[in-house]
Amino acid sequence: MIPAAFEYYRPKDMDKVLSILEEHGDDARVMAGGHSLIPMMKLRMADVPHLIDLQDVGGMSEIEIGADTIKIGALVTQSDIIDHAALADVAPILREAALQIADPQVRYMGTLGGNIANGDPGNDMPGLMQCLDASFTVVGQNGERVIPAREFYEAAYVTAREDGEVLTAVTIPRPKGGYAYEKQKRKIGDYATAAASVQIVNDDGKCVSAAIAMTNLSDTPVFSKTAGDALVGTSVDDAALKAAVAAMLGDIDPTEDNRGPVAFKNHVAGVILRRAIARAWSRA
Ligand code: FAD
Repeated sequence: MIPAAFEYYRPKDMDKVLSILEEHGDDARVMAGGHSLIPMMKLRMADVPHLIDLQDVGGMSEIEIGADTIKIGALVTQSDIIDHAALADVAPILREAALQIADPQVRYMGTLGGNIANGDPGNDMPGLMQCLDASFTVVGQNGERVIPAREFYEAAYVTAREDGEVLTAVTIPRPKGGYAYEKQKRKIGDYATAAASVQIVNDDGKCVSAAIAMTNLSDTPVFSKTAGDALVGTSVDDAALKAAVAAMLGDIDPTEDNRGPVAFKNHVAGVILRRAIARAWSRA
């Protein structure tokens, strides 16, 4: 399929990106890896008369590991995340999740920023970012602002980022304890039927903190505070697992589609979350 005609821009700095966005308003969109946007344009589900390629804008391709936080530029690709040994050392859940996105071709081009900014409930990184309590830096004509991942997603493809703003970086507190990203998909390369991100801290056999987020089970990623809280103070035994799953099921809101009916999705979500908690706990 062929997209509608569009004007292509490849500016060298952010000021130019922002001025093109301001000039064309709703008619302009930025492009990072293009692996969500271009298919949408080809399917004529996105009409983008002015397409701004971010690839030549500097300062968004670095991974900085600090004492307390990790900062990842918006143009860092999923493949960069997989290949970065120091990042895998301090935040292995990022690599575990990135390896479950699509296939190598998509991962070479698809960026962390694009995966987050897209607002597609099927994308894997948004739920993971909520689990890790990440925050997103966006820049616009009025300067920079920082938006917590847990407040960023408003509805499918609707986020707290304004049209004239560009996501430049993601900041993550260095994760503590055990982790797991568990994803159920129909076949290799597919989006999740259900996926769970879990980060959990074990102190002498008791869970002292747990963060849980679910993917593709609502029109936004779902950070389930109640599911995490159900594990705290327990030894993550069967009763605690059951309580966490029940709490999570109260927070998600799946709809029937070609990945299955609602009852099936709820069932898969429960199985996936149990597996993710068990694996995270075994590593905690
Ligand atoms: P683009 O396609 O360039 O942009 C996506 C959207 O985000 C656009 O609206 C764009 O305007 C906006 N955007 C991009 N960057 C910024 C920025 N810095 N600031 C503001 N807005 C921005 N993803 C998964 O998570 N899991 C999967 O299993 C999966 N499977 C896939 C399978 C196939 C066959 C394909 C083609 C894609 C798949 N994807 C999957 C999506 C892929 O990971 C995308 O590359 C990614 O979601 C978007 O990243 P991108 O850099 O390509 O963004």
